[in-house]
Amino acid sequence: MKKITGVNILDDEIRDKLITRNIYEIFNNFIIPLITKEEQDFLRELEDFLIKEVEPKIDLNNDVYELFPIIAKKNYMQRLNQYGDSERYGMRYEILLAMAMSIIDPELDLARVVSGVIFANPLFQFGKNDHQLEILDEIMTGKKIGCICITEKYHGSDAVNMETQIQEEEDHVIINGEKLYTTNGSIADYFIVYGVSNPHDPRGSMYQVIAEREFEGLETHRLGVQSIPRVEIGQTIFNNVKIPRENILGTRGQGYNNLFSGLVAERDAIIGSSLGISWLTAITALIYTNCRVQFGRPLYDFQAVSFPITQLFTELMAATEFGFKSASEYRKTLEHSDLKFIKYNAAFSSGTKFYASNLAHKISYETQQLCGGIAFTDNLRIDKALEVSKVQEIIGGARNIQLYLVSRAIKDIFKRLAL
Ligand SMILES: Cc1cc2nc3c(=O)[nH]c(=O)nc-3n(C[C@H](O)[C@H](O)[C@H](O)COP(=O)(O)OP(=O)(O)OC[C@H]3O[C@@H](n4cnc5c(N)ncnc54)[C@H](O)[C@@H]3O)c2cc1C
Repeated sequence: MKKITGVNILDDEIRDKLITRNIYEIFNNFIIPLITKEEQDFLRELEDFLIKEVEPKIDLNNDVYELFPIIAKKNYMQRLNQYGDSERYGMRYEILLAMAMSIIDPELDLARVVSGVIFANPLFQFGKNDHQLEILDEIMTGKKIGCICITEKYHGSDAVNMETQIQEEEDHVIINGEKLYTTNGSIADYFIVYGVSNPHDPRGSMYQVIAEREFEGLETHRLGVQSIPRVEIGQTIFNNVKIPRENILGTRGQGYNNLFSGLVAERDAIIGSSLGISWLTAITALIYTNCRVQFGRPLYDFQAVSFPITQLFTELMAATEFGFKSASEYRKTLEHSDLKFIKYNAAFSSGTKFYASNLAHKISYETQQLCGGIAFTDNLRIDKALEVSKVQEIIGGARNIQLYLVSRAIKDIFKRLAL
């Protein structure tokens, strides 16, 4: 990759104040009161590990993937599902992980969430045979990379009406089609793919299968997504790819249920990453504007600077409460079979994902303007965070689709009351 980092123009004393340890210290002041003692211990241990073991190895001129085995050493590829001997798992832990990791490297966290959560969660939920569990081990140890293929050229937001064809044979299925914007796709080892045997009945005929890099007929190409140069986004083509039966996660029709049950987890994990980006840029602005002097005073002394920053903090505190609530609700969804409750939770996660990812972009954009020119360079982490926040807003379903899901749920209440 072409070198993209530049020269340091930040005063040493401001740079010393902007170290990750200080950013975490301020972050903890806001987060610790919201979480349990167990979660506090988890967060402190995680932050210590990220500062000591991961941050020194981050190279903005290299892809993020070589960091996977390092974060996997402490079982930090994900924390949604139990893996290994850790008892600290669940959506609240996953959100803490996503926040802390986004603070040190938002691109790393984006690629991790896709491999560790969005790819791996269906294996945790539906993986049955030894081969599927072996794949899970390879992903959890960071040795292999996973991705998820839903979006197609002609079916983006309208994902259900997909065209990727699945043909059932005796001991395998054959898959034909093209998927787009596959995060990690052009470098991935494993692909969870959705396809249908009858395009006129996608719900009743959807499959969920795992394709592997070396399968004949599988082709990937990298797309030019300039906002996240260290994460590979791919076009994934399936030309008569033969998928053995042991790689089928969801059989005919089951694929549709699996797709939808996975979307809430996906949205919740993205909420964590968006909140992490927001805290990173808000705290960076708080520290920087208190140190940078113009007209003989720190920038933060001017109310035109401090009031907008305060407003962003206030909105972020609310969004963080919202995020934890969403994470707690996720556990309840798994325990409940009441459809009304499941629907409520799906809409709640959509609303929170809409709000958190939109806020991440707003906070990153506004703090960049409030800090000035330095925030456009790699001396601060704001510009990188701003670019990743754009991606957070579209992945897992674009903004309007989240609003659509919430609006439908609101209308359902209205209809049920028969006013
Ligand atoms: C960087 C990146 C990474 C991604 N990673 C993955 C991945 O790993 N796996 C994967 O499967 N997909 C991935 N995606 C795809 C992403 O989920 C889609 O881009 C998204 O679902 C929107 O689909 P689309 O791009 O085709 O836009 P379209 O569906 O064409 O929508 C374009 C615009 O129209 C709006 N719109 C569409 N329908 C309606 C409607 N009914 N009402 C109101 N507004 C509407 C949308 O909100 C959007 O603003 C990724 C995308 C990007 C850019």
